[in-house]
Amino acid sequence: MADAPAECNIKVLCRFRPLNQSEILRGDQFLPKFQGDDTVVVGGKSYAFDRVFPTNTTQEQVYNTCAKQIVKDVLCGYNGTIFAYGQTSSGKTHTMEGKLHDPHQMGIIPRIAEDIFNHIFAMDENLEFHIKVSYFEIYMDKIRDLLDVTKTNLSVHEDKNRVPYVKGCTERFVSSPDEVMDVIDEGKNNRHVAVTNMNEHSSRSHSIFLINIKQEHVETEQKLCGKLYLVDLAGSEKVSKTGAAGAVLDEAKNINKSLSALGNVISALAEGTKTHVPYRDSKMTRILQDSLGGNCRTTMFICCSPSSYNDTETKSTLMFGQRAKTIRNTASINLELTAEQWKRKYEKEKEKNKTLKETIQKLESELNRWRNGEDVPETERTTSEIVTRIESVEERPILDNDTSSIVVRISEEERQKYEEEIRKLYKQLDDKVLAYIPHTVPSFCCLLLLPLLASSRGDGDKVQAELGRLQVESDCAKAEVKEVLQALEELAINYDQKSQEVEEKGLQNQLLAEQLSQKMASLMELEAELSRMQEVSGQQRKRIAEVLNGLMRDLSEFSSIVGNGEIKLPVEISGAIEEEFTVARLYISKIKSEVKSMVKRCRQLENMQLECHRKMEETGRELSSCQLLISQHEAKIRSLTEYMQSVEQKKRQLEESHDSLSEELAKLQDQGNTETHTQKIMDGNVKKAPRHQGESHRGLHHKQLARLRDEINEKQRIIDDLNDRNSKLELELAQIRADFERLKSQDSTKSERLEELSFLHERHEQTKQDLKGLEETVARELQTLHNLRKLFVQDLTSRVKKSSEMEPDDSGGSCTQKQKISFLENNLDQLTKVHKQLVRDNADLRCELPKLEKRLRSTAERVKALETALRDAKEGAMMDRRRYQQEVDRIKDAMRAKNAMRRPHAAQIAKPVRPKQLTVCSPTNPFYAYIRATEHANTYSNALFQSNVTPQQSTSVSCNPNSVQNNTSEVHCGSEVDDSNRHYMIQQETAAS
Ligand code: ADP
Ligand code: MG
Repeated sequence: MADAPAECNIKVLCRFRPLNQSEILRGDQFLPKFQGDDTVVVGGKSYAFDRVFPTNTTQEQVYNTCAKQIVKDVLCGYNGTIFAYGQTSSGKTHTMEGKLHDPHQMGIIPRIAEDIFNHIFAMDENLEFHIKVSYFEIYMDKIRDLLDVTKTNLSVHEDKNRVPYVKGCTERFVSSPDEVMDVIDEGKNNRHVAVTNMNEHSSRSHSIFLINIKQEHVETEQKLCGKLYLVDLAGSEKVSKTGAAGAVLDEAKNINKSLSALGNVISALAEGTKTHVPYRDSKMTRILQDSLGGNCRTTMFICCSPSSYNDTETKSTLMFGQRAKTIRNTASINLELTAEQWKRKYEKEKEKNKTLKETIQKLESELNRWRNGEDVPETERTTSEIVTRIESVEERPILDNDTSSIVVRISEEERQKYEEEIRKLYKQLDDKVLAYIPHTVPSFCCLLLLPLLASSRGDGDKVQAELGRLQVESDCAKAEVKEVLQALEELAINYDQKSQEVEEKGLQNQLLAEQLSQKMASLMELEAELSRMQEVSGQQRKRIAEVLNGLMRDLSEFSSIVGNGEIKLPVEISGAIEEEFTVARLYISKIKSEVKSMVKRCRQLENMQLECHRKMEETGRELSSCQLLISQHEAKIRSLTEYMQSVEQKKRQLEESHDSLSEELAKLQDQGNTETHTQKIMDGNVKKAPRHQGESHRGLHHKQLARLRDEINEKQRIIDDLNDRNSKLELELAQIRADFERLKSQDSTKSERLEELSFLHERHEQTKQDLKGLEETVARELQTLHNLRKLFVQDLTSRVKKSSEMEPDDSGGSCTQKQKISFLENNLDQLTKVHKQLVRDNADLRCELPKLEKRLRSTAERVKALETALRDAKEGAMMDRRRYQQEVDRIKDAMRAKNAMRRPHAAQIAKPVRPKQLTVCSPTNPFYAYIRATEHANTYSNALFQSNVTPQQSTSVSCNPNSVQNNTSEVHCGSEVDDSNRHYMIQQETAAS
């Protein structure tokens, strides 16, 4: 490091804060009286500082007055420190930090953060800055990293220049004010706070924010570095005042110890007894060693409270400031010399050494001459001019580009002063010599010798002093030379290494050149082969084109067969093969998709056909069952008509029998009249009885006849009714069938439409997929195009290179190359065309896409609507069917009811009339009993009377289904048959019987 030391005092600035709220409430007195800019009177005593800031000073004023200059200094390569000293709540933190993000209330640190960058941005653009910051606190003499909470006890070390620093402390590189502020925010969050009743915040620890700035001139490689310590000290008050106890008391004592160490250091420095400064008493004083009496430009803020309550503390603070004011620092630029500068310095030193040696020799010879009693003439004497010249050589600054930063070791003024002093000393010496000269020597001799002696003595002394000085300087120079030599040695080693590397590289280079020539030869061969291949490929291309043409024609035919004319193929293809091939591929993919969709559709249609068949079968089955039912009904009707006819016949028979009987009766009456005419008188009473009986019989008979007639009429009516109903039902059936047919046709049309729509949908999907495929192909084509282009460019560049290499010896080659280039350009053009075509296709397809999507959407909607319509129709059909079923059920019920109404007859006949004597009587023949009854009139009448039971009774009997069932099952088939069939069979049985 080269430095230009400049001594200066520590700047001490005093700042008073305003009275705070509690002080005002307490009615504290406002102590300080400000006199001018730099004096304050407290308690009748005046204290002068570099500057005194009254209570109303703004943060900006404070910053501009003191801190702004420090930033400039640090950027020039000086070290700087700003302290804030004072009791707790006197405004230290307010001064150093303030409100960090408030533009008016922010303190020195945030303003510095901003100012540094402002300065840097205004500086020479060839300068390069590296700014890093650290933030740590010293608490109980332990250094705690505020940017890494795991580092709680860092140690202080010294660097190679014996400057203390905190080892292992986190350093953050920053490049903007915001980044600095982020670091501060982070550190503040980590800050430890022990709360006392004096101040809750940062009263017990010293916080140190360090900004390290390194700069390098890009061209000259000149390096400067500056450190800026920003220190917010712990409260300086007496321990008793904080009200601390126990652990906190220990803590306070410890903190005060470090503060007292600071006080001791300042006292030692202030006293000027630089023999021992107790820097090592605390870590804080060690870290700030350079700031206190060292290489640093230091500013100290002493912060005071104006309140009378803090009187003592304020006074001690002011005293502290007074002491600190006397400390002198020696700030110098922290400069690192470049190798070039070291070299220059070495040369200069060497030159200086040489001249000094020459001077010494001259002086020695002159001295010898003097010693030998020779009188050296004035012209041959070594004068002070020579020394001055040497000195001027010595003092010439090393840095030509930064004269301001190098201070001349002895200034002109000082030299003059020194010369004056030397002259004075000579005079004194002369006087003394005169006093010592023996009186025996004749005065003229004395007078002769005196000036000679004096001058020789003076010269001798001077030469001696000069010699000593030169020796010292030469020692210094030797040491420096040694350093420089070391540096040079390193350089030489580096040079050796580099030259070795260069040799190796040269060898490698040669090898590579050989390889290159080999490769070139092989390349030539390959090119020849390539041209051959190109010829062959041209032929093949032609053939391929032909084949492709044929293929395309086939394809177009195929597409016209398969597709519906949507796929159109160019009839004649004569472009580049790639293009044709791509087109063919595209069409093939289209056709493929078409065929796929066709196959799918075929499969679907087959499925649908199967379904239709199934449905048709079902419907046929239903139809046959309906037909069966109808035929059953018809059979029933037929049986009923037959029954009716039989009844009619029977009626006629009965009437006939009645007539015959009545005839017989008339005959019998005639016979009776003639036979009994005689016996009339005798048997008058006896014969009266049978006649009477016959009359009653006839009345009964008449009655029965009437009833039968009624019954017959009734039955006729019922039959008519049933016939009507049957015809109605048939009509309904026909209608339902028609409905069914209609629905079926509707269903089929709808399903057809559905199919159509689904087919459309599928096609749409297919188109989508095609589109995707197409896009992919396009992308692939683009990629190949890109690759081809790249290859082409590479080829072109290599060819150009080659042509430039070959140009001097061969101009025919360039012609072929031009041809090749034009060929390649043609290729490129074609590729571009294909590319454009593809892009256009893509765009078209993209245009089509929304339309197709719209269509798809509308189709889907239609499909949905149709589906709902179909569902509705199906539901309607189901309802019709249900209605039909209900109708059928109703008819069945009616038939059953009719049967039931008829059954009382059967029951009347079959069931109740079953005395022991009528066992042969068929239970199903209602008239059998009647016939028998005429034969056994008495029993019959009984039976008839018995059968003329109340309707309820008869119904109750006839309605016993078991009895009926048992009978029928026994009679007919002995198997289960359904109700209607059973009735039908019973009727048939009855009819048969
Ligand atoms: P210290 O750090 O010395 O313990 P602070 O800086 O925290 O003290 O100051 C204590 C209080 O006094 C803070 O609320 C601060 O805002 C206020 N204060 C200090 N100095 C001033 C000032 N010059 N002007 C206005 N308020 C101040
Ligand atoms: Mg504070």
